[in-house]
Amino acid sequence: MNSEEILARLVSFDTTSTKSNLELIDFVRNLLDDHGIASQLLYNDDMTRANLYATLGPDDIGGVMLSGHTDVVPTLGQDWHSDPYRLKVTDHQLYGRGSCDMKGFIACVLAALPQMTAGPLQTPLHLAFSYDEEIGCVGAKRLVEKMAGFEVKPRVGLIGEPTGMRMVLGHKGKVSYRVTITGLACHSAYISSGVNAVEYAAELVAFIRNMNSRVQQELTDSSYSVPHTTFHVGNIGGGTALNIVPNHCQFEFEIRNLPQQELDALVHEIRHYADAALLPEMRERYPDSDIRFDEISSYPGLHTDPASAVIACTRAVNPVDEIGDNVSFGTEAGLFDAIGINSLVCGPGSIDQAHRPDEFVDRAQLRYCDEMIENLVHRCLESAKFV
Ligand SMILES: [Zn+2]
Repeated sequence: MNSEEILARLVSFDTTSTKSNLELIDFVRNLLDDHGIASQLLYNDDMTRANLYATLGPDDIGGVMLSGHTDVVPTLGQDWHSDPYRLKVTDHQLYGRGSCDMKGFIACVLAALPQMTAGPLQTPLHLAFSYDEEIGCVGAKRLVEKMAGFEVKPRVGLIGEPTGMRMVLGHKGKVSYRVTITGLACHSAYISSGVNAVEYAAELVAFIRNMNSRVQQELTDSSYSVPHTTFHVGNIGGGTALNIVPNHCQFEFEIRNLPQQELDALVHEIRHYADAALLPEMRERYPDSDIRFDEISSYPGLHTDPASAVIACTRAVNPVDEIGDNVSFGTEAGLFDAIGINSLVCGPGSIDQAHRPDEFVDRAQLRYCDEMIENLVHRCLESAKFV
């Protein structure tokens, strides 16, 4: 099967995040089996989704990891002109959910299996396909935890998110939290007997907003279209009636950080304000007052050194010899990089088409990607010192 035929199969599995991806994983596993390649599955807790990991070639040197997520975003409420789970082929494009984000890349990798097994690989190749990336790199986190314990890890990693095949060396990190404020209810005529959860939430929201202004002054990086770390509160809810002091309020916020800026310190500052400035005052009036932070999701940013091995290696095989701008969307590359796998993002298609109705990938982009993987496999067959 060529990459377009494989892509048609991959698109036919509805692997919307949080739905099972096991049918797709089965398909991939069988394909690997057919080529005599063993793979490991790493499941989520309820065994409905799995990461797949496979190593081809020697297992005592690092080699190159090719990685992609198998899940896609929902089509719900989107106006598609064709069945999103049936690849539509036109003269220049391939339409379908996940065609660019990012089953196209996975299809190109799998299309090269015959070549990968044509002879003994001198430099190993590792395939890492994850689940639930779109809802916070959930599967990859589990995979990375396991890989961190490997005696020999991949030396470099290509994460095939759509970049128009340009090599992207940086993206922001992100953390999101749900904050729950518990106060004390009372009649609104006697506000000093209660603790107003909505008002304390508002103070915390204002603090987060002020941090946004301050941090913008502290650090900028003009290689990003939004050149600084951003803070954002996306929703808030609390209270039941105007004549009751509300005892409950909840809101969610996120920080998208420049990778050069330490995320933990920023979160700590917000939590410290809640603990040191707000809570003592609340507890003086009602000892069971509380401000609770629950992390919803997080992933680290990516900040790859242009002089590092992964660039040299990708440059040597990629027909599109272009470094792309840093991107604002997150990827799994930061996670892999954080455990010492020197990573960059490079894959077929444009992020402009991702997550949209009538998502497509240009057929020419798939051909570039096929060519990159072919060149890469060729080098890996040829030399043990490719990376
Ligand atoms: Zn993606």
